[in-house]
Amino acid sequence: MKIGAPKETFEGEARVAITPESALQLQKLGYDVVVESKAGQAAGFSDAAFKEAGVEVVKTAAALFKAADVIAKVRPPSEAEAKRLTKGQTLISFFYPASNEKLMELAKGKGANVIAMDMVPRISRAQKMDALSSMANIAGYRAVIEAGNNFGRFFTGQVTAAGKVPPAKVLVVGAGVAGLAAIGTSTSLGAITYAFDVRPEVAEQIESMGAEFVFLEFEDSELPDGAETGGYAPPSSPEFQAKQLEKFREIAPDMDIVITTALIPNRAAPVLWTKDMVDAMKPGSVIVDLAAEKGGNCELTQMDKRVVTDNGVIIIGYTDFPSRMATQASTLYGNNIRHMMADLTPEKDGQVNHNMEDDVIRGATITYEGDITFPPPPPKVA
Ligand code: NAD
Repeated sequence: MKIGAPKETFEGEARVAITPESALQLQKLGYDVVVESKAGQAAGFSDAAFKEAGVEVVKTAAALFKAADVIAKVRPPSEAEAKRLTKGQTLISFFYPASNEKLMELAKGKGANVIAMDMVPRISRAQKMDALSSMANIAGYRAVIEAGNNFGRFFTGQVTAAGKVPPAKVLVVGAGVAGLAAIGTSTSLGAITYAFDVRPEVAEQIESMGAEFVFLEFEDSELPDGAETGGYAPPSSPEFQAKQLEKFREIAPDMDIVITTALIPNRAAPVLWTKDMVDAMKPGSVIVDLAAEKGGNCELTQMDKRVVTDNGVIIIGYTDFPSRMATQASTLYGNNIRHMMADLTPEKDGQVNHNMEDDVIRGATITYEGDITFPPPPPKVA
């Protein structure tokens, strides 16, 4: 069988789902690999590099969709791409089925089997295919770099002949995958780093990375319990939220950089950094809001924009951080895809064995043999 990656069509998207390196691994699974011409160009992978790795390069998306039995993409397909799918063809890409119902219907109608990378269960066995995590890791790193690029001072403190420089103070709100990456990047650049999460169990991880956990004064029984939500944050109680905002209000004037990453599955992002907090910050301070796509954690965030407030605070609401590091992101995403293909090809014979009895494959499959298979059944309790 053939697996192929088209050039991404979403405006500004620079990633590609197959790299020359991952193509070699896919060939070891028995597949022929094909890419659309210039598919990897924006990520730093030339047609020549693909050819050198034994990959066929075709001129158009139409030719690619015709040639490949398995289509690997980064972004959900456009309507035009979904219309190109054919019966029995497999599509593997981010899909966000809960908010892309029409697209899912279209793929089902075409008889394509769709695996949504964002639906891969977040269990240990599936970590190598967990593209949400690999992309969140990049976003967290890049958020700090982007903040640094907009910040007029050093992160680290210095004593120089020309004067003493205080270290920057960075607050990371939300310590999931992106938040922890941001914390690691910030501490390694020498900033004094603080972090907060509604899940108190992450305090140890935060502290082991050299940051300080911002504690709220609470009775244990009042703390939100993440155990029932598969490790994800449950919505906070009004009392908890009020205490959290009170704490943020207290520390806002002292923070130079705030990176927000707080998300609650299937809901709008909680608003945690309000206008009065922004007003209280020093001119030149920077906020990077990684929750911008879900409405933003900062009240003043504008999606995909960099805004400067009247008091000189810079607020960044970009939603394309992984694409801004397209080489790294494509390399890791390409690895996620080839691990998914390895699970789909147990015999390494270049034939897809779409085993719906496999928890990971079942969990990620949203259309199969003409049916919608989303949402998946709840995971089996051992
Ligand atoms: P996410 O993107 O859903 O949320 C980011 C963070 O925001 C979370 O840590 C969450 O607790 C936090 N948050 C929500 N509301 C908040 C608020 N009001 N104030 C402060 N913080 C708030 O999370 P994620 O990065 O996708 O990770 C979610 C969970 O999944 C974590 O427990 C993570 O360790 C786990 N995980 C497990 C695996 C695996 O085992 N394979 C892989 C990845 C993630």
